[in-house]
Amino acid sequence: MKGTAGGLRFMCVPEKDGNSIARARDYIPSMDVHYSSGVFNRAFCILAKSQGWSVQKAFEVFLRANQNFWSADATFDTAANGVLLAASALGYDTSAVQSAFSEVGVEVTRAMTPPVATAQTDAICSYLGDAVPQSIKTSSAGKRALDMIQKIVLASGLAQNFTVEAATVPNAAALIDGNKRKILYNAAFLDDLSRRVQSNWSALSVLAHEIGHHLNGHTLQISGSLPQLELEADRFSGFILQRLGAPLSGAQAVIASLGQDRSTTHPSKSDRLEAIAAGWRDACAKDADCPKEQDLDQPSDEPIGQEDNLSVEPAMPKVPSPRSKAVIMQ
Ligand SMILES: [Zn+2]
Repeated sequence: MKGTAGGLRFMCVPEKDGNSIARARDYIPSMDVHYSSGVFNRAFCILAKSQGWSVQKAFEVFLRANQNFWSADATFDTAANGVLLAASALGYDTSAVQSAFSEVGVEVTRAMTPPVATAQTDAICSYLGDAVPQSIKTSSAGKRALDMIQKIVLASGLAQNFTVEAATVPNAAALIDGNKRKILYNAAFLDDLSRRVQSNWSALSVLAHEIGHHLNGHTLQISGSLPQLELEADRFSGFILQRLGAPLSGAQAVIASLGQDRSTTHPSKSDRLEAIAAGWRDACAKDADCPKEQDLDQPSDEPIGQEDNLSVEPAMPKVPSPRSKAVIMQ
């Protein structure tokens, strides 16, 4: 991106109009919003020109931030944090976002965003390590998600100890709200995931990980997730996915699709893949019908389809397979 377009160049040097500001420190409260927006225009420009970025990608991220994370009372800091969350949610490099904002005087780090939804709500885990926004809108969970969660809980053989809601979280999260355990999921993220990762098992593996935190009795980590708890949840996800009939590649598809390690709270990609594999093999070893490794990449005979498909399907397979018998997780 050379920035040859007049409009973009103007965004890059906002003060050229004689009024707009280019750095957060130049802001004064009485300032016209059009001039103060120079700060974000310049950050946008820097991001669009960053290595691996484009105007289109930067626009996509700012648009997502506007739709999902910006509130009417947003400050430079909270709005920039929203852009960071949007970049995370889209699977883009968040360090370029941090650098772009740093250049205009807005320091945005994960640590800046409290890992809690409200004063009473504490996040145990956000699947990809993204910060859970301070303000979360929730709605009733959809049938597709509830069906998947029912399958996961049944396959675990444990009693469900949490409730489920659709919410404006970056991907999926396990939380404790007061004394209630909750799973929150971003419906658009889960819908996008099957297409992006090209695996019918993607949404199930994410939800199984989050549920693993609750069924394993994990509790709050104020400073973010503990790596060993993340690996326990990944191991649980691998175990459950095998019991539901997933090949190892299906259980690992989401983590395998990550381009790089980009979380400070979650373990490395290779450790997460190994934890999923360990859980999967553990379940496989207990399953007389577990196929040999070379047969494992066949497409699933029980795909997780779109909402429409599932709304006419029973939540559980019509004929229970030996794999769906309950086990007690140790
Ligand atoms: Zn987790």
